[in-house]
Amino acid sequence: MRYHHFTLEQRDALQRTIRTSLHPGRERDEALGRLGEPDYGVCERCGRDIAFVLLEADPAARLCRACGGAEAPGEVRAPRGSRADRA
Ligand SMILES: [Zn+2]
Repeated sequence: MRYHHFTLEQRDALQRTIRTSLHPGRERDEALGRLGEPDYGVCERCGRDIAFVLLEADPAARLCRACGGAEAPGEVRAPRGSRADRA
């Protein structure tokens, strides 16, 4: 899955946002690194494009809005509905 290519202006804007909104450190370095990768901006769960506005708000986002946005781990546990069996 590949994201559509950003325009140079969009990439530039994201790069600026990353530098200003994230604290220096591993997360920022990773976000800057991922920006150059072909699958940057692709939701890790459903493979769809993450909206540019969402990336602008959170350049480190790995999930699209439908899948939980931001940095939500996205772990959804299925509730156990069955009661213990009685023999
Ligand atoms: Zn998704």
